[in-house]
Amino acid sequence: MASGGIYRNGGGLQKPQNLRNSSSFKSKLPPSNLRRSTTTTDTAVSGRVRVAVRLRPRNDEEMVADADFADCVELQPELKRLKLRRNNWDSDTYEFDELLNEFASQKRVYEVVAKPVVESVLEGYNGTVMAYGQTGTGKTYTLGRLGDEDTSARGIMVRSMEDMLANVSLQTDSLSVSYLQLYMETIQDLLNPANDNISIVEDQKSGDVSLPGATVVEIRDKQSFVELLRVGEAQRFAANTKLNTESSRSHAILMVQVKRSVSGSENDYSAESDTPSSRGNTYSPPILRKGKLVIVDLAGSERVNKSGSEGHMLEEAKSINLSLSALGKCINALAENSAHVPVRDSKLTRLLKDSFGGTSRTSLVVTIGPSPRHRAETSSTILFGQRAMKVENMLRIKE
Ligand code: ADP
Ligand code: MG
Repeated sequence: MASGGIYRNGGGLQKPQNLRNSSSFKSKLPPSNLRRSTTTTDTAVSGRVRVAVRLRPRNDEEMVADADFADCVELQPELKRLKLRRNNWDSDTYEFDELLNEFASQKRVYEVVAKPVVESVLEGYNGTVMAYGQTGTGKTYTLGRLGDEDTSARGIMVRSMEDMLANVSLQTDSLSVSYLQLYMETIQDLLNPANDNISIVEDQKSGDVSLPGATVVEIRDKQSFVELLRVGEAQRFAANTKLNTESSRSHAILMVQVKRSVSGSENDYSAESDTPSSRGNTYSPPILRKGKLVIVDLAGSERVNKSGSEGHMLEEAKSINLSLSALGKCINALAENSAHVPVRDSKLTRLLKDSFGGTSRTSLVVTIGPSPRHRAETSSTILFGQRAMKVENMLRIKE
């Protein structure tokens, strides 16, 4: 047999769960009945976490060092399949929602990974876009590039904001942003260095999490948003230099709160309506829609070598593992429909409570490199993505 196991996960063969509804994300939402309904609060739809894999091209170092070797992965975007080489003869095959090879443009990546989420957020849902992968595989390239020198290079953060600005009316609506770093279980405000220990507050009744200490900046144009990202990046760099660490060790979290006033008639009436509606002609008061978009550039997923570390380095190694491994544990628990999901084990999982197993529309991009020398890390990244594909959220507009 040319190909080894299909859908192997750890040791056992697995059912290709994703085949069941691999195209569900786009087609299910936004459902037109939700747009028409005035009682959207009690309408919820299932929405599986959607997972794309992005492969970065070989870099200069790999061009030389790996010159005599094949890439460790082969992407088959039209089949939505990825082959991970096991050895010279065998490979394992995995299915994903989207495969983005080294030629995929930033525009395409935005359209596939983030645009459906941004559209939902504009309708009042919560949404999450997250990048997971080994350091150097393109998480920040995918999410955070500003595109100063070349606008086609801009990443998901800037493109999301452009899309939102184009679709809201700043007379009645608002877009406000917070930008944070989570490092060693401490949340730092990237927009105000004095706020270096922000706490998470959970609403007793709704269970919603918020960060009341974080700076919130209202955005009215793209340029001020790009400046805000630049300030945040500089602050991230400064904080990391002070702490003598690298940004690859921390998680960067951008939150965009969207408040929209949707006119009652717009909300009730849809051109595709299959029932004759007279509501479009009657006055309905405006409805406030509040959506939240969270974009997370996670710390590098590579295993931190604890053996050689001492003191601060060891603490850091443990702490990095704490947040990311807590995320992995939550995703495993949700993928297996386990009764207990250990959300409270880390700040990252508390912050992302709504993103996995919650009401958010969630899109994950896992980034990988081609080098056969990093096959083991690439494999573990792919398995993380496979498990995330099994997580079902219940999308719901909160009012
Ligand atoms: P990470 O944030 O995962 O550590 P980066 O986004 O910083 O990785 O990317 C590492 C390097 O690879 C950077 O120099 C970046 O410009 C380059 N790179 C990443 N993805 C791509 C891509 N798809 N195409 C071209 N270069 C890329
Ligand atoms: Mg990075």
